[in-house]
Amino acid sequence: MRLYDTATRGLRELPPAPGPVRMYFCGPTVYQRIHVGNARPFVLSMWLKRWLEDSGYDVTLVENITDVNDKIYAAAPGASAKLAADASDWYVEDTSGFGLGRPDREPKATESIPEIVAMIEQLVAGGHAYPAGGDVYFRVASFPDYGKLSGRHGDEEATRNPSEEDEAGELKDDPRDFALWKAHKEGEDTRWDSPWGRGRPGWHIECSAMAETHLGPVFEIHGGGIDLVFPHHENEIAQSRSLGHEFAQLWMHNGMLRLAGEKMSKSLGNIVSLREALETWGRETLLVYFLGGHWRKPLDYSDEVLRQAAAQAESFRNVFRQPSEPGGDWEAFATALDDDFNTPEALAILHGWRNHELLRRGLEVFGLESLAESASVPRELEELARRRAEARGRRDFDEGDRLRGEIEAAGWEVRDMDAEPGFQLVPKP
Ligand SMILES: [Zn+2]
Repeated sequence: MRLYDTATRGLRELPPAPGPVRMYFCGPTVYQRIHVGNARPFVLSMWLKRWLEDSGYDVTLVENITDVNDKIYAAAPGASAKLAADASDWYVEDTSGFGLGRPDREPKATESIPEIVAMIEQLVAGGHAYPAGGDVYFRVASFPDYGKLSGRHGDEEATRNPSEEDEAGELKDDPRDFALWKAHKEGEDTRWDSPWGRGRPGWHIECSAMAETHLGPVFEIHGGGIDLVFPHHENEIAQSRSLGHEFAQLWMHNGMLRLAGEKMSKSLGNIVSLREALETWGRETLLVYFLGGHWRKPLDYSDEVLRQAAAQAESFRNVFRQPSEPGGDWEAFATALDDDFNTPEALAILHGWRNHELLRRGLEVFGLESLAESASVPRELEELARRRAEARGRRDFDEGDRLRGEIEAAGWEVRDMDAEPGFQLVPKP
């Protein structure tokens, strides 16, 4: 199994099974419902975990939740803790909608403060960080390899692209330095005690500390969106390697989702929430959609592309409505995934299969075995759902609700879809 590594800019072979493969993926900063673009690293990491486990690896996946930072304070002045707690629950609820299970551990920054403080103390003791007016800063000049991951060195760029965190600090010795600890400011409703006074951690140190707490000082894979390479991941490397820890061996960065040609981002405002996407298209269509793009490349999000994904999902259901035929080459499928986790190629291979058992096994890797079940909708229920769609079309919602009740009494759920035939029937959980 090999994967593209941002650090060496080439494909790297994973150690042979059973590994272990320890993975850390950067999770979201929680202050509103996540958008469908934020869901890509979640889906990628869960698929990769499933595939590696299928291939005999011992996998541990850790995905953090950043529940304290400037964006959260700004979103809910005086009540950020409540917002972060609610938004953490929304994140878990929404991503659980994929039906892919959960990472092995999902640590929150606010629950990892002792480990974070201990790491900052070690950095200060080693001369890699310095306190200044209640803040603590990492001294970039103390880490000669700074910039190797991203090819950027933090000169003007660091100050121009502050990313998640406000890094203005006039107390820095060097504009490239970044905050490990930030003194408590008026209006911030969360604070913790530290040797440098009351305050809270910077964003980057949270991930170094949480990754090492749960995976140890060396682990196989670190992942996240391509927008995190600089400064976030560059800074994680600086913090951990300054302490002599090897840290991540391979860096996976997924491409961004694009809406109408632009990167989907909260700051640009061109976002579709994951919840809305799941409600509109259903989990199966959304998963087929993600499969269609290589994880490293940008992926366009549009009704047209999602309609195509819905049609692809339907074509898999159709295979299960026909008699199974022998054939299909599992090796070809495995080779595609073992070669930089090429899901578009794996998807194309699955489309060629008519062998029910093999196809079900292949779809199961991606949490899509339900396509085999949703194919077996009883005819009379399909008829009820069609009549319900017609009733709603003529705005006869009472009749629509009555038919929905009949369908539910039979143990099925009907979902409205934009794609043909306008509804989807799924077995009630
Ligand atoms: Zn992170």
